Amino acid sequence: MAWDFSTEPEFEAQLEWMREFVREEIWPLETLRLEYDQIRRAFEPLQQEVKERGLWAAHLDPELGGQGFGQVKLGLMHEILGSSLLAPFAFGNQAPDSGNSEILALAGSAEQKERYLHPLLAGDLHSAFSMTEPNAGADPTLLQTRAVRDGDGWVINGHKWFSSNASIADFLIVMAVTDPDARAHQRASMFIVPTDTPGVNILRDVPTMEHPDQEFGKFGGHAEILYEDVRIPAEAILGGEGTGFLLAQARLGPGRIHHCMRWLGVSRRAFDMLCERSLYRYAFGSTLAEKQTVQNWIADSAAEMQAARLMTLHAAWVIDTQGVRAARTEISLIKFYGAKVLHDVIDRALQAHGSLGYSTDLPLEQMYRFARGARFYDGPDEVHRQSVARQVLRGYEAPADGVPSEHVPTRRRAAQEKFAHLLEAVTSND
Ligand SMILES: Cc1cc2nc3c(=O)[nH]c(=O)nc-3n(C[C@H](O)[C@H](O)[C@H](O)COP(=O)(O)OP(=O)(O)OC[C@H]3O[C@@H](n4cnc5c(N)ncnc54)[C@H](O)[C@@H]3O)c2cc1C
Repeated sequence: MAWDFSTEPEFEAQLEWMREFVREEIWPLETLRLEYDQIRRAFEPLQQEVKERGLWAAHLDPELGGQGFGQVKLGLMHEILGSSLLAPFAFGNQAPDSGNSEILALAGSAEQKERYLHPLLAGDLHSAFSMTEPNAGADPTLLQTRAVRDGDGWVINGHKWFSSNASIADFLIVMAVTDPDARAHQRASMFIVPTDTPGVNILRDVPTMEHPDQEFGKFGGHAEILYEDVRIPAEAILGGEGTGFLLAQARLGPGRIHHCMRWLGVSRRAFDMLCERSLYRYAFGSTLAEKQTVQNWIADSAAEMQAARLMTLHAAWVIDTQGVRAARTEISLIKFYGAKVLHDVIDRALQAHGSLGYSTDLPLEQMYRFARGARFYDGPDEVHRQSVARQVLRGYEAPADGVPSEHVPTRRRAAQEKFAHLLEAVTSND
């Protein structure tokens, strides 16, 4: 019977190093508002240090230049990196490149790995994942972007948006319908499309709640793209024809859990601010720490964060021990629950800081805007709840006679029959 919550001492030492490194070397850089190119240059020595510690691209197997840590160790690591939006960049596992490298590792040909995966892992190329369309989001079976065979290649036409980092990417992984008459989940395929291919028109980075003043070509932008007669060679397809949904599932499974792991780090940072504030802010005769409402916020946040952490690490453990498919329910559970915990903890910390929390003098308002998006990307809350409910309900069936199985009068009658001899004995006066 193994039920072990401990971390190996060697890995704990690595985690300790990461905590210090992220707090001392990366948090200060956040305040400098560096441009993307400046970030790349500023991070080079940090990335070198991470490589020397054997922590680079930890999400991938060793033969691909990664560390092969498995999801539980990654979870513990991402929890630390998640405390800063910049930290994953220093460790070679920033979204969306990390998820895209998993697709390439899984489905890429030897040539695709050589040309795209290895430079992506080395940090020399950047990528984007282009699936969502203005008219097809939560339900990707509604995708309209088409890839049509033409001679010895493919021609793509379509309209996508929210392709994160596309305006700074070197290549896109595009999901397009290749066989509109096939069954819903076999209609689409994925393609590698270099961003400088004629016909790839990146119209803008859509300003969002997270980046209201988004300018074109910044790290973290979400691009709107028109694919107009984009001609690519036959070998640009990833995996086989019709495998787009399979690959999307393979990418989004671990990708979702990595987001959940990072959210633990964001929540923790907001929680630390909440606790610190409660100890020094004085109002109406006491510090906030002495107000029951604030005590409730602290206790509720601590409990919810602990639950989210255990659920995340448990889902990671199921992936490690039984595979992504077996962890579907666990991943969906933590995707919507983790997003809510993230939001609620930040919201309480922001509230406790009053106008200071609302201002950009603290990172809370930015965290709050970031947290709102977590309820959409990689599937909205409602879709994950629906998926959990469906899977849970598979373990139940409706009573044939329409009487609930816990109906007390019915159970009493059955018990009276089953234990008739016993009842007679215990109720007789002899
Ligand atoms: C910050 C951010 C980054 C993103 N990055 C990428 C990216 O890199 N690449 C990419 O391809 N996409 C990306 N997306 C898009 C993301 O995947 C979509 O937002 C998501 O799939 C939902 O699609 P939609 O926004 O079109 O919402 P819609 O499909 O329009 O859904 C809207 C709402 O309808 C409701 N709804 C939908 N289905 C159900 C249901 N079954 N039951 C009940 N209610 C339901 C939900 O409330 C849902 O929020 C990103 C989004 C965000 C916010």
